[in-house]
Amino acid sequence: MGKPTGFLEYNRELPKTKAPKDRIINYKEFYLGFSNKKTERQAARCMDCGTPFCHSACPLGNNIPEFNDMVYQENWKKAYEILSTTNNFPEFTGRVCPAPCEASCVLGIIKPQITIEHIEKAIIEKAFNQGWLTPQTPQYRTGKKVAIIGSGPTGLAAASQLNKAGHNVTVYEKDDRLGGLLRYGIPDFKLEKHIIDRRIELMENEGIIFKTNSYVGENVKIEELLNLYDAILLSGGTSVARDLNIKGRSTKGVHFALEFLIPQNKRNAGDKIDISEDIDATGKDVFVIGGGDTGSDCVGTSIRQNAKSVTMIELLPKPSLERNENNPWPEWPNILRTSSSHNEGGKRLWSVLTKEFISNKKGELQALKIVDIKWSKNNKNKWKYTEIESSIREVKCDIALISIGFAHAKHEGMINQLGVEIENNGNIKSNCYQTNKDKIFVAGDMRIGQSLIVRAISEGREVAKSIDIYLMRESTLESKNTSIFEV
Ligand SMILES: Cc1cc2nc3c(=O)[nH]c(=O)nc-3n(C[C@H](O)[C@H](O)[C@H](O)COP(=O)(O)OP(=O)(O)OC[C@H]3O[C@@H](n4cnc5c(N)ncnc54)[C@H](O)[C@@H]3O)c2cc1C
Repeated sequence: MGKPTGFLEYNRELPKTKAPKDRIINYKEFYLGFSNKKTERQAARCMDCGTPFCHSACPLGNNIPEFNDMVYQENWKKAYEILSTTNNFPEFTGRVCPAPCEASCVLGIIKPQITIEHIEKAIIEKAFNQGWLTPQTPQYRTGKKVAIIGSGPTGLAAASQLNKAGHNVTVYEKDDRLGGLLRYGIPDFKLEKHIIDRRIELMENEGIIFKTNSYVGENVKIEELLNLYDAILLSGGTSVARDLNIKGRSTKGVHFALEFLIPQNKRNAGDKIDISEDIDATGKDVFVIGGGDTGSDCVGTSIRQNAKSVTMIELLPKPSLERNENNPWPEWPNILRTSSSHNEGGKRLWSVLTKEFISNKKGELQALKIVDIKWSKNNKNKWKYTEIESSIREVKCDIALISIGFAHAKHEGMINQLGVEIENNGNIKSNCYQTNKDKIFVAGDMRIGQSLIVRAISEGREVAKSIDIYLMRESTLESKNTSIFEV
């Protein structure tokens, strides 16, 4: 696939980005242009490796060597057709996927891997620009009605697939806008929101009905949905954030990451933010507790808000720059990751434990008590840490943003009212995506716990197939294991 000698002739190259100082003045995406010719050369590097590990590493099973080959051959339309067979929303994954495909690219053993994520984005953007995406309405309607609760990537992918199968699909969303964490979570500088609007418009024209401000279990009654629909999909995500229940947690100035990120996304959309919801990092010393992707989004947002200082602290030790020997290719590499936000400024500290939020007399946050820790294995070979007492210190802090992950879906309301079974870890229990209740299905973060957009899309596609089979006894919808060459 691609050009047999391409990987010898061309080096890995990605679009350049605006310099940090130029991009932090607004919330826009910051990649500069890249010609088709250059992308075709990148696709030419795909080297007909025989066993494309990239394909199996992708939760969607994207046919990567096949679309690379088409791009190399300048047949972009065919590349789009191949890509859209497995991925409903390459415009999202092409922007914000951590790209497990690239981590397992065979070329990556000896040289920098293929720029798969960029090629995917280039294909879908060309497809939109050329007008290749037109509303695809099903040839016939089955007369079956499906309600989808939650409009994140899981719900959107399921809606798209079920509509394709001819069912009448209505998506209920509690927020005022559609998209789940794509809309209210991921900052605009990673994903501008007109990208979501463009897709939703297409889906509406395909016949899918979207109802915003519709909070199932609150202002939309469960009984109403049970009466109206032949199947119901729960795709409400994991909204219960993991907390840091240490001394001073209720101090003013200590927030969950999303309490900080959502108002900024709304402000970018032109909304006026209620003063009670607004958290402004301007001129403040900010600590982001948790070194993952959500934390990194808080760093980039704090920098754009002109924080005086931004420090990210992580409990785990600093990862190495290279894979270590018990984490070989093609596994996901547990190495140090530096996001675009990290490149924009701020400090990163590892092996640091937060012990207390310290307030002033007005109850406002003024410092964090932190301590360095040392990791070692105990006699059962389990990792444990010990505090280095001499390192206990207070650091000045006005805003602390807790970004240590999400526990599970909210159970109060819809979940408890439905009486669906819950796993020990708080996720909703399922068997082939079906809950213990007739006609109620579950998918996405609500089923598997906090995850990735690419997995959410995959979950949406797989649950759609299960629902289709439940409604029709059989299904022609694709799933991960059906490649375009089999259907
Ligand atoms: C800050 C942040 C940044 C992230 N960045 C990335 C990234 O860069 N790359 C990546 O791959 N992943 C990222 N993720 C993870 C990714 O966003 C999620 O895994 C994905 O969005 C999960 O999709 P979902 O559809 O299952 O749930 P969600 O996206 O959470 O959507 C669930 C939707 O259901 C709605 N809902 C819930 N209950 C109800 C109800 N009762 N009635 C009506 N509506 C309801 C919610 O309002 C929400 O809109 C990030 C997550 C966060 C928090």
